[in-house]
Amino acid sequence: MLYVHIPFCKSFCTYCGFYSETAVCYEAFAKALLKEAELRQEELSGTFQTRTLYIGGGTPTVLPLSVLEHIVSHLRNLAGPLEEFTIEANPEDIVDKGAEYAEALLKMGVNRVSMGVQSFDDRVLKWMNRRHDAATAIKAYRILEDAGFDNISIDLIFGFASKDAAQWTRTISRALDISRTGRPPRHISAYQLSIEPDSALEKMVSSGKVVMADEDSCAREYELLCDRLRQTGYNHYEISNFALPGYEAVHNSAYWHHQPYLGLGPGAHSFSISAEGEYSRSWNEPHLKAYIENRPCQSEILTAEQIGMEEVMLSLRTSSGLSSRRVEDLCGATALKRALKSGSLEIIEGSSLVRIPEHKFFISDGIIAELFA
Ligand code: SF4
Repeated sequence: MLYVHIPFCKSFCTYCGFYSETAVCYEAFAKALLKEAELRQEELSGTFQTRTLYIGGGTPTVLPLSVLEHIVSHLRNLAGPLEEFTIEANPEDIVDKGAEYAEALLKMGVNRVSMGVQSFDDRVLKWMNRRHDAATAIKAYRILEDAGFDNISIDLIFGFASKDAAQWTRTISRALDISRTGRPPRHISAYQLSIEPDSALEKMVSSGKVVMADEDSCAREYELLCDRLRQTGYNHYEISNFALPGYEAVHNSAYWHHQPYLGLGPGAHSFSISAEGEYSRSWNEPHLKAYIENRPCQSEILTAEQIGMEEVMLSLRTSSGLSSRRVEDLCGATALKRALKSGSLEIIEGSSLVRIPEHKFFISDGIIAELFA
């Protein structure tokens, strides 16, 4: 699994805490990125149990096409054949760059596009400081679809405090109707609006300019989403992710199943398992200039306890769960029994696996905390 972080955005969204910059030093960045890839080629081959490449950010689609093609052709040479190749896309960039750009992405081998739509309500999009409006998101989706992309995922955000109670219902309906073919998107990710450190939203909330939606209304919106998508045939395979059968994200699923990955680019994290079974994490400092000059990075060895906690936290976010034996080993027999008795965990029929039932996904953080209490 290879992740590449493209640290550029044209503007900053209200809620965002990801690392990115508005600089335009694309060539210098590409040079530094490919240098890092070459230096870490050995690590790269060790992470390819899952053959995926994910280009995220930031906003990968702000890169000029020639720079993106240059990066991709080098990485593909190092990585070999890929099962899944995802790129994150901004709707406005897709519309600006048009059909030719979408076709160039396909030619590069991209077979999955994850598009940040967030909402189909123009007032909400404006508040979020997104660059696109709802019509642009629909147009972008159709450009990708017309170019031949089958696997398009759209990202949505719920939990926006609005006087208009129906705006979320309309957003879900428009998401399901986005295609001109009438077929719903193959994949939908939906995240609750949260206060990320260093985001504009954090300042707005602390100055009292914005009041966040209460948990009950967020829970209602989440339930509405789960119900609509279940009725439409989606598999709710992870707390925030829904896929039509066969379209579950391979790359992200591998994260949740604790497989090693290599992250290239400023701010990118990597996770590795040595031949001796030692787990470690490393990360590049999130500073573009420093990355281009000398790539400062850090690493840590993870203890068995840290690994166990991560395994429980990641696996229980998914509908495939974790073996009850593993939960017992990591959290204790009493905690497991208590969770099964209260219905916080359920046994997956015909297996020895346990999971959080879908109707309790929304409170999964509390359930997992309780298992370790
Ligand atoms: S949400 Fe995406 S486009 Fe918006 S600032 Fe964050 S990384 Fe950039």
